[in-house]
Amino acid sequence: MTLALPNDEPFDSLSPPVLRASTVVFKTFDDFVKRKRRQPDGYSYGITGTPTARLLESRIAALEGGRHCVITPSGQSALMTTVMGFVRGGDHLLVSAACYGALKTFSEKWLAHMGVQVELYRPDIGADIDALIRPNTRMICMEAPGTVSMEMPDIPAVAATARRRGVLTMMDNTWASPLGFRPLEHGVDFSIEAATKLFGGHSDLLMGAISMNDHAHYEVLRETQSILGQQVSPDDCFLVLRGLETLKVRLDAQSATTLDIARWLQNQPQVERLLFPALEGDAGHAVWKRDFRGSGCLFSVILKPAPEAAFHGFFDSLQRFSIGASWGGVHSLAAYYPAPLQAQRAFPVTDQPIVRLAIGLEDKDALIADLAAALQGYARHPSNRAPATGGA
Ligand SMILES: *Cc1c(COP(=O)(O)O)cnc(C)c1O
Repeated sequence: MTLALPNDEPFDSLSPPVLRASTVVFKTFDDFVKRKRRQPDGYSYGITGTPTARLLESRIAALEGGRHCVITPSGQSALMTTVMGFVRGGDHLLVSAACYGALKTFSEKWLAHMGVQVELYRPDIGADIDALIRPNTRMICMEAPGTVSMEMPDIPAVAATARRRGVLTMMDNTWASPLGFRPLEHGVDFSIEAATKLFGGHSDLLMGAISMNDHAHYEVLRETQSILGQQVSPDDCFLVLRGLETLKVRLDAQSATTLDIARWLQNQPQVERLLFPALEGDAGHAVWKRDFRGSGCLFSVILKPAPEAAFHGFFDSLQRFSIGASWGGVHSLAAYYPAPLQAQRAFPVTDQPIVRLAIGLEDKDALIADLAAALQGYARHPSNRAPATGGA
């Protein structure tokens, strides 16, 4: 039965329709029996998606310069789905030590117990990845720059080496978005975005996207997405479609403010160093400049050493920045990653705590004033007055 609408008046809107469905219905017996043949693009049941999901997938694929896209309910599920589609027990999986934390946990706590050989590699690696590839290496997981620690790998070099050795590559491209870097054009097989961040852009939904060129890979991932029971609400698809309309202006504005704030912070006496490849002097700057077209709105800061309690002075002074671990929305955020977390990492960049700042659309001078007050709060905190003895 086709839904009967009240009349046939022509109707057009600038907004995409939100088409909801668990059940998809078919005109004939024959259509029903052959419904599975409609995959990977068509509709057979809600789990493989609705036209609203397909519209969003086609927009994201176009942004990435790719042919296909599969959306999933979170950035983490996009990372996990990509790995689950291709990696099996007995395979070797190379994961950057600076990949998104939950992907590392999934690899080390789940995959390793399912017989996958998981190996973390140095995050700023390039063609040297060659020496780590084994006969059973199936996939290399990359992220640029690294989550929190912000190392810059040489993506084209890793991708070229992997391709020559017959190994799949996936890259978490959330930081740059396809406006700043297009992994598929640099030889990467799968470009992953946490659409939760810049695509959605308003801190009110979770979504992930996997883009690719190869049709056989697309078939595998459409099946994996549905077999793992993952689909996205058409309402959330609508919100991301809307977010994409303003992605460029938001990112341009937020990136400009971010660079100014980072340059200002660099000169503050309480700041030891910034982890931000867009800055001259950062270890990853040359690679970033060669490959990337955008400087993003997220970077990390290492403050001059002080007892952990001094960070109360920093964070509790913030008025404009909210304290929170996400990013990519219009509100500025500050997050704290304690020292032990850094020291325990494979290939650590520091043994000090890291403060990560995500810059939103607020007035730049107001944000700088807020950070100035927070740095004062850090310097003046009682625990920071006495010489640092390690106790707090
Ligand atoms: C947030 C984030 C993710 C995870 O996205 P969720 O939608 O929160 O699961 C993955 N990678 C990067 C780089 C992120 O910032």
